[in-house]
Amino acid sequence: MRTDPDRLSFEIVARDGDARAGVLTTPHGTVETPCFVPLATRGSVKGLLPGEVADVGYEMVLGNTYHLMLAPGGERIAELGGLHEFMGWDGAIITDSGGFQVFSLAYGSVADEVKGRRGRPPLEGGVLAIGEEGVRFRSYIDGSEHFLSPERSMEVQAQLGSDIALVFDECTPFRADYDYTARSTERTDRWLRRCLDWHGAEGPPGQAVFGIVQGGTHEDLRRQSAESVAAAGVDGIAIGGTLGEDKEQMREIVGMTVGMLPADPARHLLGIGEPDDLVEGIAAGIDSFDCAVPTRLGRHGMALAPLPERRFRYDVRKRRNEEEPGPLVAGCPCPACTGFSRAYVHYLSKAEELTGVRLLTLHNLVYSRELVAGAREAIVAGRYGNYRDAIMAGAAPWEAAGT
Ligand SMILES: [Zn+2]
Repeated sequence: MRTDPDRLSFEIVARDGDARAGVLTTPHGTVETPCFVPLATRGSVKGLLPGEVADVGYEMVLGNTYHLMLAPGGERIAELGGLHEFMGWDGAIITDSGGFQVFSLAYGSVADEVKGRRGRPPLEGGVLAIGEEGVRFRSYIDGSEHFLSPERSMEVQAQLGSDIALVFDECTPFRADYDYTARSTERTDRWLRRCLDWHGAEGPPGQAVFGIVQGGTHEDLRRQSAESVAAAGVDGIAIGGTLGEDKEQMREIVGMTVGMLPADPARHLLGIGEPDDLVEGIAAGIDSFDCAVPTRLGRHGMALAPLPERRFRYDVRKRRNEEEPGPLVAGCPCPACTGFSRAYVHYLSKAEELTGVRLLTLHNLVYSRELVAGAREAIVAGRYGNYRDAIMAGAAPWEAAGT
């Protein structure tokens, strides 16, 4: 492992079974783990100001290389002082590599594949060619041609000036066969080395680089990828790619992959973060998660809630909420639950008032934050098993914290 104290350090302060509590120290402050990382895909956590995100307790957000390189462009953000300055966020930032987005353009999402849908229509942009050098694609904004390669992805992430950059990888389609996945995993491995070579020569000194373990659902390919990433001298390790077609298989693959990783570096699980995924992922030894779910649900009238039988959420717009004088979730410390009735948020959501989106986004982000903060406390106290059981049985995070 590289050990540059000015870049990033990760210290594990407590363990309980495989679960760990730690502290990531970045050039933009510390991040207590396990943590959830809200998405600031286009340089904003949709609907919120940076101060509101920080007030909830978040110490790191995730920016998206693919979207930011298309607009307003890495060069412009660099000229305007980098992404922290540009978006007014002085906490830590992790940027993804853009790989997931360009390969989703080519193959569609796993959900598309599982449900038999095709990829996005070509008018929204599309991939023109995938080769050893990288991926040529068309902008969904104006149809202009762009090229994303390991070097270009690292260059854009250097322009953004994130605290943690992710290496450029191929996200293999869920239906890919073993041979394709094996070839793709090998290419991702070659791309990892190109990313690290570029970053070693040209990368900002304060920026850490996380490798990504691919390999689909195949144990030997995951192991090969995990060993290669661990040996490459990265600052942390992310788990990406196809994790199966349902939660059961996803947990199996995450648990298996974590077991192949070295103990010391920070471990990030890409794109996963529903309440049950968080408590199970933490139990498996994941330190950080990013996911669109809390913010996206907020824009669609959905509130996170301790309802394991209903995927930990309910639709606030349903008629049964129209006269409810109580909060979205009893005991929730968020601004929506402490200041307003469920009936009011129901009415705002039905009327498509922006305040309704803001209140639900705040609620969902507070809920996710309470969940990981409670998990951290439980790990430190050596009672994470109780905490996890309580959450999975339907306790709210602040209730489970006392179990
Ligand atoms: Zn709330």
